[in-house]
Amino acid sequence: MKALICGAGIAGLTLAWHLERVGWDVELVERAPAFREGGYMIDFFGPGYEVAEMMGLRPRLDDLRYPISTINYVDRDGKPTSSLKMPPDIDRIASLLRGDLARMIHGDVHAPVRYSTSVDEVEQADSGVSVRLTDGTRREVDLLVGADGAHSRVRELVFGDEHRFLRYLGHHVAAYIFTDEDLSRRVGMRYQMLTVPGLMIGAYALRGGRVAVLFLRRDPDPALPEDPAAVLRRDYGDLGWILPEVLDRCPSPPELYYDQVTQIEMAEWSRGRVALLGDACQAVSLFAGHGASMAMAAAWVLTDELRGADGDLPGALARYRRRMQPTIADTQRFGRGFTRWMAPPSQWRIRARDGIMRLASLPGVNRLLVNSITAGSGTLITRRPTRLERLGR
Ligand SMILES: Cc1cc2nc3c(=O)[nH]c(=O)nc-3n(C[C@H](O)[C@H](O)[C@H](O)COP(=O)(O)OP(=O)(O)OC[C@H]3O[C@@H](n4cnc5c(N)ncnc54)[C@H](O)[C@@H]3O)c2cc1C
Repeated sequence: MKALICGAGIAGLTLAWHLERVGWDVELVERAPAFREGGYMIDFFGPGYEVAEMMGLRPRLDDLRYPISTINYVDRDGKPTSSLKMPPDIDRIASLLRGDLARMIHGDVHAPVRYSTSVDEVEQADSGVSVRLTDGTRREVDLLVGADGAHSRVRELVFGDEHRFLRYLGHHVAAYIFTDEDLSRRVGMRYQMLTVPGLMIGAYALRGGRVAVLFLRRDPDPALPEDPAAVLRRDYGDLGWILPEVLDRCPSPPELYYDQVTQIEMAEWSRGRVALLGDACQAVSLFAGHGASMAMAAAWVLTDELRGADGDLPGALARYRRRMQPTIADTQRFGRGFTRWMAPPSQWRIRARDGIMRLASLPGVNRLLVNSITAGSGTLITRRPTRLERLGR
């Protein structure tokens, strides 16, 4: 059986990994000109972590994770206003760069990745899918998978315009990484954040004297600005703390990641022999903090269904959606509720959040809080992770 996967992110690569191990002939096409490194820090836990363990990635996860032990909120002078310590023995959660996780999976994928290439046209028949690529070549495959992110091209071609599926969560997000050994030392291996109503910036040190920063801007308009770096300078320029140094280093896209914060909600995830995977059909947003994990879990569930398809490929794709969707809907609901805590819209909510954090730092309470509501980079509080077994048949 032949599969073409559009998008070599965490979802597409994980699916390639699993499909080739159950005997499929797999090819990936990726719009970027080369493997996408870096990006931003993610908290990786829950069902995707279990899938990564199954894939034998645990030792590499342990090597590449960052030991982020504290989350600090700071004021404009950099003075902590509240903080939360992670218990040292917290297991099965790794803070690491999105790109490091993707590279780890890519390292064990044998399928070829055709870079600077996308899908241009899709024609379906009962027995297969004919796909024209942007380089003009054609592929005849049994299955086409759109793992090409929240703004999926495959989804647009097969299911229609993205405005039908995209739920805008009222924020823009930006992230970049730069090298500054002195600042990296000052920020340290802890997650530091400054929030004022409607704006949040987080920073953490990376190995090699680097610093990673994440910005969240409340904006009623989902349209992306023409010059995102100029918008960051305009909105964050007078917030003090480390911002002058950080904004001086702000690159232009693609080194500057800038996007709307969105969720994708769809009633169907497949049509005939075309399926969607990861953010393309189930984006939960950074507010839910589970997207990479859910993408890997979905790749595993999809492979599980395809292995048992017994000639009925569309049926297997429908079962894959039925297994995943309740958990995704639940995670999306959680993410929407969390928006006002991660990027508080008002001063009183910032004070309320700091109050909760201070309470959490009392002996005994912290452990309880962190166990039941896992702290994460940028997510501050997320709920107890879903277990893979919940996605069982
Ligand atoms: C700031 C931020 C913080 C986050 N924090 C967390 C976290 O703490 N924990 C967590 O689990 N998740 C987190 N997430 C979510 C997580 O990063 C995503 O859910 C996950 O990476 C989705 O993977 P994906 O492969 O589906 O999509 P993507 O990562 O978007 O990958 C899609 C791939 O397809 C390619 N592509 C796009 N368009 C085309 C096209 N037309 N043709 C060919 N290729 C194309 C892209 O270049 C990319 O390589 C966070 C996200 C953000 C933005």
